[in-house]
Amino acid sequence: MPNASHQLRCIGTGERIAPEAVSSDFRDPVTGDLYEVEYPWSETREDAAAARRPNAQALRHLWAERRDSTMPIDQSGVWRYRDLLPILQDDNNAVTLREGNTPLYDLPRTAKLLGLDFLLAKHQGMNPTGSFKDTGMTAALSVAAERGFKWVACASTGNTSAAMAAYAARAGLRAIVFIPEGKIAWGKLSQSMDYGAMSIQLKTDFDGCVKMLGEIVRKNPIYLLNSVNPYRLEGQKTPAIEICEQLDWQVPDHVIVPGGNLANGSALGKGFGELKHLGFIDRVPKISVIQASGANPLFQWFNNEEKLLHAVTAETRATAIRIGNPASWRKAAHIIETTNGWCEDVNESEIALAKAQIGAEGIGCEPASAVTLAGLKKLMSQGRVLPGERVVLLLTGHTLKDPEYTIDFHQGVLAADMPEAAGYRRPPVVLEPNESAVMKALATEMAGAL
Ligand SMILES: *Cc1c(COP(=O)(O)O)cnc(C)c1O
Repeated sequence: MPNASHQLRCIGTGERIAPEAVSSDFRDPVTGDLYEVEYPWSETREDAAAARRPNAQALRHLWAERRDSTMPIDQSGVWRYRDLLPILQDDNNAVTLREGNTPLYDLPRTAKLLGLDFLLAKHQGMNPTGSFKDTGMTAALSVAAERGFKWVACASTGNTSAAMAAYAARAGLRAIVFIPEGKIAWGKLSQSMDYGAMSIQLKTDFDGCVKMLGEIVRKNPIYLLNSVNPYRLEGQKTPAIEICEQLDWQVPDHVIVPGGNLANGSALGKGFGELKHLGFIDRVPKISVIQASGANPLFQWFNNEEKLLHAVTAETRATAIRIGNPASWRKAAHIIETTNGWCEDVNESEIALAKAQIGAEGIGCEPASAVTLAGLKKLMSQGRVLPGERVVLLLTGHTLKDPEYTIDFHQGVLAADMPEAAGYRRPPVVLEPNESAVMKALATEMAGAL
């Protein structure tokens, strides 16, 4: 089935180019700006009114129907919505691991603690490789495969490489990942090895990896799968659709996302914006981005007058957002401004406590995801989120991605300065193998719980 056409629009100059004409680093050769995918019906098209718009009513039914299908692309929580991301010439070229379809959990204890009526977590860590990166990777890697590339590459703090390696393996492509030496969680590095990618640990940070990779893709027929690739965002916008569908097309008041390279918040904003433009929903949620205070260039941009981004040297144990020079900052800035969202930063102890609180809900997440809850607390204390409002936290990665971090929290290494953390710590108890020792420990535990 041939698909509708799309083009790439430079977000700086507004110029459009054919998808095949884009430079290998996905930047405007003159201005260095990024591109976004634009469809005939997109809001940015002056002639959009004339273009045949997807029909919201019909699509809702079609998408619901596809849930009963046995076809892989219908079972995928990304490609099920392919009508809003017609980026492939042929849908049969989609490379899918049945990504998406992630749960929207309620967080009753945390809601009560914060005095909120309605707190939900969209758990993107429940994707095939354990992070939201799968939703973007299925989209962009399918484009690479359809265009005949044999090699794909990315620079990564870990989750992008895990996702890319898995999807490349499914498609029979070779994958090269550049990761900062010693600064990624073992769970993630082990995944790219498991899925057969070539892993190169560069003796630099993430930002150094990005630079190196840019040189390589300019000179070789290797397809770049970092989030500067605009097709990544087309996949990553689909959780916005899924959230609305899961809420029976009611729109939450706030969506809170972690900010690293800043593609995810941008993609969700694009998703909600398109749903509104096409009449699926009548308003968009406020989208707020939370950064770690050791890697907070967007937060600094948000608070300075000149409105320019200054790169920082990034340092945080939330390794997925340890990024000092975020590629998609202009896109994210636009989303925050147009949705009336906010930007905050949170410190290492606040992240660790928030992660433990999400864990105690029986859900868990990786440290970078927990900035959303830490940030929500700040937004509430500032009166930017009100008790009666409906909030969705975007949990980006699975708790098993970084077990070392979890153990460090429970051993008291993390959040040592926070008295509230004590109630969440559950270090392992080492006992002699006799009944009285075990009973004594249980009695102490029960007394503590009262
Ligand atoms: C990649 C990632 C982020 C950051 O997303 P950006 O699009 O880079 O802002 C946050 N959390 C996790 C778990 C990630 O893998």
